Amino acid sequence: MLIDISSVRKSDGSSLRIDSSVDISEYAPEFSNVRAEGEIRNTSGIISIYLHISGVYGSVCDRCGKDAVLPIEADIDTVFEDEGSKDDSVTFTDGRIDLDKTVCDALVLAVPMQILCREDCPGVEGDGYEIIYGEN
Ligand SMILES: [Zn+2]
Repeated sequence: MLIDISSVRKSDGSSLRIDSSVDISEYAPEFSNVRAEGEIRNTSGIISIYLHISGVYGSVCDRCGKDAVLPIEADIDTVFEDEGSKDDSVTFTDGRIDLDKTVCDALVLAVPMQILCREDCPGVEGDGYEIIYGEN
C-alpha cells in the first residue's frame, strides 16, 4: 500500500483518511483479510500517522496441532520525519510512504505468545499427562 502524502505535507492542518485492505502476503503470508483504517495528519508541519489494523492470523494450535485462526488487531501511532519515521517503522520513497511493512510489523508484534485453536483446547487426545523432569 503506497500512499502519496505530498498533498498532506504541503498544507498545515490537512489530513488524509485511510481505509483500505492491505496485501502483506509478500512479508507475512500467514496473515489474511488485513485492513488499515485511520489517518495521516499534518499538524504544524509534523506528520502523524494513526492507524488501526486488523487481520486474520492462520497458524496451528500449540496444544493440539490443529489449524488455529486468530483475529489480530494492532495500532500504529507514529510521527513521520523527512528521512522516515522516528522509529523506522515507516518507509518513505518519492513522496510516498509504503505502509505494507509497517502494517506487517505491527501485526506480527500483536500475535500472542501461545496460539490456541480455542481458549479451552484440551490438547491432543490421549495426551492427558505431562512429563516432569525432576532433579534426580
Ligand atoms: Zn487446539
